Amino acid sequence: MSEISDECWTRVKGRLRAEVGEAVYSSWFARMELESVEANTARISVPTLFLKSWIQSHYAERLLTCWQSERPAVTRIDLSVRSAAVRNAQPFAVNPPSTVAHLEKRDANHARPDIKSISLPSPILQDTRGGSPLDPRLTFETFVVGRSNTLAHAASKQVATARRGDPVMFNPLYIHSGVGLGKTHLLQAVALKTNSLGERKALYLTAERFMYGFASALRSQTALAFKDALRGIDVLVVDDLQFLQGKNSQAEFSHTLNSLIDGGRQVVVAADRPPTELESLDERIRSRLAGGLVVEIGLLGEELRLEILSARVQAARAHHPGFDVPPQVLGYIARTVTHNGRDLEGALNRLLAHSKLTGQPITMELAERELRDLVRPVELKRVRIEEIQRIVARHYNVSRSDLLSSRRTANVVRPRQIAMYLAKTLTLRSLPEIGRRFGGRDHTTVLHAVRKIESLIGVDNTLAAEIESLKTQLQE
Ligand code: ADP
Ligand code: MG
Repeated sequence: MSEISDECWTRVKGRLRAEVGEAVYSSWFARMELESVEANTARISVPTLFLKSWIQSHYAERLLTCWQSERPAVTRIDLSVRSAAVRNAQPFAVNPPSTVAHLEKRDANHARPDIKSISLPSPILQDTRGGSPLDPRLTFETFVVGRSNTLAHAASKQVATARRGDPVMFNPLYIHSGVGLGKTHLLQAVALKTNSLGERKALYLTAERFMYGFASALRSQTALAFKDALRGIDVLVVDDLQFLQGKNSQAEFSHTLNSLIDGGRQVVVAADRPPTELESLDERIRSRLAGGLVVEIGLLGEELRLEILSARVQAARAHHPGFDVPPQVLGYIARTVTHNGRDLEGALNRLLAHSKLTGQPITMELAERELRDLVRPVELKRVRIEEIQRIVARHYNVSRSDLLSSRRTANVVRPRQIAMYLAKTLTLRSLPEIGRRFGGRDHTTVLHAVRKIESLIGVDNTLAAEIESLKTQLQE
């Protein structure tokens, strides 16, 4: 896959996420992978047949529209189910909107006809004057506080309840963590709370929305109006800042940030890494971001996960009284669908969809089968690429600079591939980013390394054990 389609894919996902909202996105789309884009067809895979059917029957048009906004040439989407062992493609075609229904009928053994009648407790998104949608469920009241998020919660609450004219205590407030640990929840809570108090105005934007808003404002010559609108607010909340890209957007973000902070107004930012590691951002922006309060949210402990799950089931039962999840299953989810609040929600949404579809009770067996792809023992901690390089180099008795060098001798090539494989599986970094961190290699080289090691692990038990041991060392 070319770097261009990688970027394009990131933007397609960004659009989709901005359209359907974080909760829906994470339930159904977070596990999509782009396999290829050829001529007019984008090939996308998901881990289970159920996800495929669901996306197909509910979101086929949306997905295609998002593609077409980025790349008009794409007129078909091939959705397939990927499995670890066999690449078991079961493509279906999505054609332009008018013909979708027809095609779904042809694929009736996969698209379940009654699936449309289910309504998950979907957010009633609030209109937000050009901001990204707010999910009214993401409030301070529904946020469960535990050891890992006490500080982030307290700081957010402080920011949301400050009065106009109060001295601004932390500016910007910068919250970072791995995926699914409650950043968006807290940020939306800040926006909802601030606005509900009525005295100050908050605007919540994803970095993507910031970019699209800005880009389209430029196109329609209303850049000034857009800037004015941004500057007329008291609390600017920007989510997923790691996605901010492009010179213009960065420059505009930088101006906005500076003028808001200098004007004594509050800025709240979330990202998946600390400010110093936002590699694509200008140094000045990074240091401005680091100049306020930087708080990390830690992993959700099992207890906290269980509490979140129980609260979620309670909330779902308001809409779906028959939805009953035995404590044993809740315990199983809390234990195995690790650390990530998003997967917890995704897991419950799937069980709910199943229970509505089949009317059958939710059993351990069902949970184990349907949630298999959410059970991820790895990623126990955020691992840094430098750390991977260091540990792998030490283990194979080469130097870290050997790994980054262009040397091609076998004693360096294999460790290098292993390190790239670990970087891909243990971090959220993209292939191009990993390539850059390994001495400026092309992303296809990284992809090749990942595939190579994956296939070797399947046949070489010694290597598989070595890699397991490296993973364990990295996650200690
Ligand atoms: P992030 O933005 O950090 O990736 P989110 O805020 O989207 O994560 O959280 C993912 C899911 O987990 C959301 O549904 C969110 O409501 C839930 N969640 C995370 N932390 C908590 C918490 N402490 N209390 C309640 N729900 C939580
Ligand atoms: Mg988020």
